[in-house]
Amino acid sequence: MKRIFLILNLLFLPLLINAQKQPWQGKFEPIDNLITPPSTYRTASGAPGRDYWQQRADYNIKASLDEKTKVLSGEETITYYNNSPDELTYVWMQLEQNVNKKEGESFGDAFGGVRDSISSLNMQYLTRAIEFPAGHTIKYVKNASGKDLKTLVNQTMMKVFLDSPLKSGETTQFQISWSYPITDRSMFMLSREGYEYFPKDDNAVFLIAHWFPRMCVYNDTEGWQNKQFRRLGEFALEFGNYDVEITVPEDHVVASTGSLQNEDQVLSKQQRKRLDEAKKSFDTPVLIITPEEALKNEQSKSSKMKTWKFKAENVRDFAWATSRKFIWDAQAHQFSDHVTMAMSFYPNEGLPVWEEESTKAVVAALEVYSEATFEYPYPVAISVNTSNIGMEFPMISFNGGRPKNGKISDMAKAGMIGTIIHEVGHNWFPMIVSSDERQWMWMDEGLNTFLHQRTVAEKYPQFSHTTPKSIVPFMNGNQDIMRPIMTSSDNELLTQFGANFYQKPTVGLQILRNSVIGKELFDQAFKEYANRWKYKHPNPADLFRTLEDATATDLDWFWRGWFFTTDKTDMELSQVKWFRVEEKDQNIEDQQKKTKIQVEGQDTKTVATDFSGGPEMITMTETPDNNYGGFLSRLDETQIRNNLSGKNIYEVTIKNVGGLVMPVTIEWQYTDGSSETDRLPAEIWRYNEYEITKTFVKDKEVKQVVLDPNFEFADVETANNSFPKTEEASQFDKFKEKKN
Ligand SMILES: [Zn+2]
Repeated sequence: MKRIFLILNLLFLPLLINAQKQPWQGKFEPIDNLITPPSTYRTASGAPGRDYWQQRADYNIKASLDEKTKVLSGEETITYYNNSPDELTYVWMQLEQNVNKKEGESFGDAFGGVRDSISSLNMQYLTRAIEFPAGHTIKYVKNASGKDLKTLVNQTMMKVFLDSPLKSGETTQFQISWSYPITDRSMFMLSREGYEYFPKDDNAVFLIAHWFPRMCVYNDTEGWQNKQFRRLGEFALEFGNYDVEITVPEDHVVASTGSLQNEDQVLSKQQRKRLDEAKKSFDTPVLIITPEEALKNEQSKSSKMKTWKFKAENVRDFAWATSRKFIWDAQAHQFSDHVTMAMSFYPNEGLPVWEEESTKAVVAALEVYSEATFEYPYPVAISVNTSNIGMEFPMISFNGGRPKNGKISDMAKAGMIGTIIHEVGHNWFPMIVSSDERQWMWMDEGLNTFLHQRTVAEKYPQFSHTTPKSIVPFMNGNQDIMRPIMTSSDNELLTQFGANFYQKPTVGLQILRNSVIGKELFDQAFKEYANRWKYKHPNPADLFRTLEDATATDLDWFWRGWFFTTDKTDMELSQVKWFRVEEKDQNIEDQQKKTKIQVEGQDTKTVATDFSGGPEMITMTETPDNNYGGFLSRLDETQIRNNLSGKNIYEVTIKNVGGLVMPVTIEWQYTDGSSETDRLPAEIWRYNEYEITKTFVKDKEVKQVVLDPNFEFADVETANNSFPKTEEASQFDKFKEKKN
């Protein structure tokens, strides 16, 4: 035993000396101290635990739109199920419209600061909040027997005091009457809803979202998730069933979450006939309202009202859009046990591209996401056109992108289709796999963008899509303002959140899928995560743990580097040494001479920068008897020498300059014009996080060696990725020139 120990010690000695040059950073250590510990609610394997619970809220809402005053008012009955083990004496509700009030955080922002000249649009951000009577007015909150309940409002949060404690397992009901003035979308930064006014025909498209007081999430990790709504951090919501009646002018058309319950009362005979046709049309959309009919609708304004009734099951939110301007098309999509209607609503201003592309893009998202996770469960998937941005809700999304004078550039078209795919994709993350958006924007945006980019790559190969190369400018950006992905939604900068919460996690998942775990195993694990957490509330730890649990891959190094730091990938191919084994036996004197030369070569700092010096020779010596330990068999030294005869041995030294540990891919370009790639796992950086040396035996002679030849790892500096170091030398020369 002692002898083996000694040998091991000797083997590791050079590594230990290397590692001591710079401090060990523990890049492969477990991340257990960085994430929530497992519990009986959430297991160590990343699945919901045996005691997992979540609250439920059912809503019965009657709302009415006053088109003239643009005020929406409503009454709702909430049935709240306390499935928690705790007794609750009060509940928290969200009043997002209050974010537009004078006291809101964005009040007083001049957007870019006060300058010599400021556009009127920017100027009105300063005055708007003073003049506009924004926010929810709560007329009453009553319990089931009609008794007023005490409430207190703190900005976007309303505390409702229950008249008696709500015990674990109990249900309570209360009614709320409310109203708010709908905002003009063009006047509010980061506006996700409101109306868009069309001066030409004096009409509006109303996008109605976060419109009714909604229950906050109460869960095992946060207690009440009652962080204020500050616009960037989105929503945390409970699942439930909705029964909603929407009263709008008679000539309006309503697009909504849920399935329409009273077609007979709100649609014409012709519209119902066309909708029936659409339900059987699986290849192409059918127009329920034509462009001509929509134009005609725009010209008169009915003073009568009509009520549309919708029901939605097991959703975490409810949104709708209404206008007399809508064209409406629909197409059926067959799933294994149900049909979903893919539908689009858009004004004539969206033609022709919306008629050509919107519903098609909805179907593309339904196909790829369903395959990657679980089948889309809902009866409808709707895309509504708006002026800009994209915003998601269960079964319905509001999507920007509009032609000018009927024409749209290829880039704008790609943007519009990408937006529709993305927002429809949000039905999975976070509408069903319901992570906490207020806390972790990346959990829904990152996972959704990952599948959205995959959908674009698979269904629209003519458009560009995100790859690891796309994130390089961000990763190489100003470290002073950079935050890790694991940063609360509202603490990220407006200029950075797109890259940090959408693109960076997307690229991270692409690296895991394509270069670390492998497609089949990764896809199965991703699907496992989606299925474990559908209709539930996952945390980051649940995702991290599931992807390890389902793949037998210790990914703590990856989570630690990519999600918890702002380190970047920058590997430097600092040295390639070329050797050959001496063909003939050498005498002892020659061997000693060779060894001496090698030792000198390492000590003096004369390192080769190309292969012009030819190979150095290695002498193969006989293995001393004691190195065989107890084994009686002996190697055939002649055979080994013959195997290596004439072959090229390359010793490669790679430095980790950027901080992130990553797998290493090495491309060997041979003098005969052919090439070959070797792949090494990230774990090669375990013993030395700064520098590694690996040796390869090649039949052919190498002309050039290139690291990360296919740009798999977002390496921010490719000039130091090749040997001979021609490119880097020229960079250095340029740098010198600048200095001079
Ligand atoms: Zn999104």
